[in-house]
Amino acid sequence: MREKLVLIGNGMAGIRTIEEVLKNDPDRFDIIVFGEEPHPNYNRIMLSSVLQGDASVDDIVLNSYEWYAENQITLHTGDAVKKVDTKKQVVYSEKGIVQSYDKLIMATGSNPFMLPLPGADKEGVIAFRNIKDCETMIETSKNYKKAVVIGGGLLGLEAARGLLNLNMEVDVIHIADFLMERQLDEPASNMLKEELEAQGMRFHLKKNTEQIIGRDRVEEVRFTDGSSLKTDLVVMAVGIKPNIELGKKSGLKTERAILVNDYMQTSAENVYAVGECAEHRGIAYGLVAPLYEQGKVLAAHLCSADAASEPGYKGSIVYTQLKVSGVDVFSAGVFQDNEKTKAIRVHDEFEGIYKKVVVQDNKVVGAVLFGDTGDSPRLLNMMRSGEDISQMSKVAILPSESSSDSKVSPVVAMADGETICGCNGVSKGEICTAITDLGLQSVEQVKQCTNAGRSCGGCKPLVADLLELTTGEEVGNVKEPMCGCTEYTHEEVVAEIRELGLSHPREVMNVLGWESDEGCSKCRPAINYYLQMVDPIKNADDPSSRFVNERVHANINHNGTFTVVPRMYGGVTNADQLRKIADVADKYSVPLLKVTGGQRIDLFGVEKEDLPKVWSDLGMRSGSAYAKALRTVKTCVGEQFCRFGTQDSIGLGIELEKKFEYINTPHKVKMAVSACPRNCAESGIKDFGVVGVEGAWELYVGGNGGVDLRGGDLFCKVKTKEEIIVTISAFLQYYREHARYLERTSHFVERVGLDHMKQVVLEDVEGRNALIERLEIALSTGKDPWKEIVENEEKQKEYQKTHVTMS
Ligand SMILES: Cc1cc2nc3c(=O)[nH]c(=O)nc-3n(C[C@H](O)[C@H](O)[C@H](O)COP(=O)(O)OP(=O)(O)OC[C@H]3O[C@@H](n4cnc5c(N)ncnc54)[C@H](O)[C@@H]3O)c2cc1C
Ligand code: SF4
Repeated sequence: MREKLVLIGNGMAGIRTIEEVLKNDPDRFDIIVFGEEPHPNYNRIMLSSVLQGDASVDDIVLNSYEWYAENQITLHTGDAVKKVDTKKQVVYSEKGIVQSYDKLIMATGSNPFMLPLPGADKEGVIAFRNIKDCETMIETSKNYKKAVVIGGGLLGLEAARGLLNLNMEVDVIHIADFLMERQLDEPASNMLKEELEAQGMRFHLKKNTEQIIGRDRVEEVRFTDGSSLKTDLVVMAVGIKPNIELGKKSGLKTERAILVNDYMQTSAENVYAVGECAEHRGIAYGLVAPLYEQGKVLAAHLCSADAASEPGYKGSIVYTQLKVSGVDVFSAGVFQDNEKTKAIRVHDEFEGIYKKVVVQDNKVVGAVLFGDTGDSPRLLNMMRSGEDISQMSKVAILPSESSSDSKVSPVVAMADGETICGCNGVSKGEICTAITDLGLQSVEQVKQCTNAGRSCGGCKPLVADLLELTTGEEVGNVKEPMCGCTEYTHEEVVAEIRELGLSHPREVMNVLGWESDEGCSKCRPAINYYLQMVDPIKNADDPSSRFVNERVHANINHNGTFTVVPRMYGGVTNADQLRKIADVADKYSVPLLKVTGGQRIDLFGVEKEDLPKVWSDLGMRSGSAYAKALRTVKTCVGEQFCRFGTQDSIGLGIELEKKFEYINTPHKVKMAVSACPRNCAESGIKDFGVVGVEGAWELYVGGNGGVDLRGGDLFCKVKTKEEIIVTISAFLQYYREHARYLERTSHFVERVGLDHMKQVVLEDVEGRNALIERLEIALSTGKDPWKEIVENEEKQKEYQKTHVTMS
């Protein structure tokens, strides 16, 4: 029987340890993971990118629910472990799960440190640690204007940049004399301040916050010098403290964090700790590179036949980089001068470049780089190797502006053993070998195969340089494969499906020589979509290639229950439908009914095995709220009741929704119809938005109201409903045929260009008719998936609980 390995904390260090365990010995353990947050494992570092609008929450997921299922890991999300009995070897979760273990890993991370100020508990006072904080900031920016960030360190500045991107006015309060004083010396910090002020941030240095004022919500921040600032949001980014409550309660020895030895063993037998909650040789690290090194050591120890002979963890050199676009800052090791150190400095005020290398006993012990961080890998390696520099010329240690002016990448001079990706500890040699041996052609492929660039992403330019160096091709011109399983791009896969008449995902993978037998969660759904798009009549859907929501035809929730959203065309309902929904809610004890932003009703918390019965009792069609298909057509009241409306927005909305429901699309599609320019249906931020104007309709395309907020582009103005339907049909089919799977219309329109879309949809009449004809064929195959299941007892048997329990 396999041993039971339980992980508490579904974060970066814990899951990296599990990845390493799976690499070492995939069959050794039954793995059970508890995570307090309602998400699969995500890249916390990239929260700054989500806030700054460079990535979506989906983009930062490191391991999807499918990954857990594929590796037979039982995952309980949204359920914190509240107690560990280290004698009986059992953990107890908040939701009542009692789980025994043979080996236990604590990876509970850190909690943000909240200043204990009067008023700190008011609404609008938050930290910056998780997806929820990020979402709160994004939501707040929609209704409020002013933000105060307390803390001028790395995290505070990244939060401040994100809030600026969200169009808020941002004041940063910092207690020290200069910003990032734990990473930068004063000259570098002053340059940083100037740069960030130019970007719109306002700084208040040497300020001590005294009180947060407001009725329920924060309204003002008051300082000890008597001054104050009005604000709608306070983000505290003043530090973190290891999350050791559970460890302490479980009787583990703790100081600042849970004490561990070189194998990450705690004071209790079979209990280990990794990550920010662990303290090794007096240090609790707060950056991923050391935590990943710990994870590797722990995994080797857990899987080894002779654990004591495995090399232990000896500690790490840390370095940091600020992730704010347009500002290059790097800091490592000892960066302040003292009586034992000497420094080599370059300060180019014209170019805004500052470099300082700190030397002690003829060894590089630290560095600060501002404006040009290209030397950072080389300097880090000198620090790590402890190289004696007494015989080196100082120019070689820190090339001056003139000598570093050439366009030659720093990777050229690096030795094979030197590290390119510090977070994941990947060397130049490993990357070059992977590029050559596996024929890699893109940064994404290098990331998949070597882990380089999978964390903060700071090394991606170096990886791109290495690719160019090794393959001799310019990376911009190098094609981007669909995923790590293949060298084919999305477009090439579609072309091959057409050319070779392929009809099943497995056939595509076999014929095109996929690297893995099963494909992955990226390529399988894409291939399945392309097959049906190319030939909707002949090529059947492969449910096993779909994401869980689409397999089950309902939205999965963090606790493993599902949300059912019945179809309500145009957002219109009636007493009969409402009665049915109410009856179903009573009968199946639906815990939450909620009206959606798209004017439909959510029934939250339905058990998987109840789904077919719920659908049958509702007797309504599937609302596709889970699908890559037309979700909703939102409508305003229009001529029926509104005193401004001159057009029938509801009638048109219903017609559009009936026309385009159940058609597969590369990503979800939303539409809206407003009957006048007041635009109550928010047509400007939909994939297709229709706005009534005097005697005509304006059609907007490529809008998006999500994280990547984008106003739709005015596509055309038409007189009749028929013209609208024709235009949307042709546009939709062109999008279906030419977009890459999971590309929203907003990105697609930006990629191919609005003029191009106008040309193929509006100007080329013959082409448009052909597009519409192909769309009609696809539409003819659309079926209500709930009806199919309600009418088929065999299919109903599949409605058992998923392996990913997410209690
Ligand atoms: C905005 C931001 C930017 C950052 N940028 C960088 C950067 O550029 N470079 C860098 O190296 N590092 C960066 N970091 C730090 C890095 O994210 C952390 O060092 C790393 O995530 C720590 O990993 P961990 O697994 O120890 O903790 P976490 O990733 O925090 O995971 C711990 C998990 O345990 C869960 N948990 C806690 N208690 C329980 C319980 N009782 N039961 C179940 N689950 C529990 C928590 O909910 C959490 O999800 C950044 C952090 C933030 C917040
Ligand atoms: S968009 Fe115009 S017509 Fe429609 S509800 Fe608003 S004001 Fe009335």
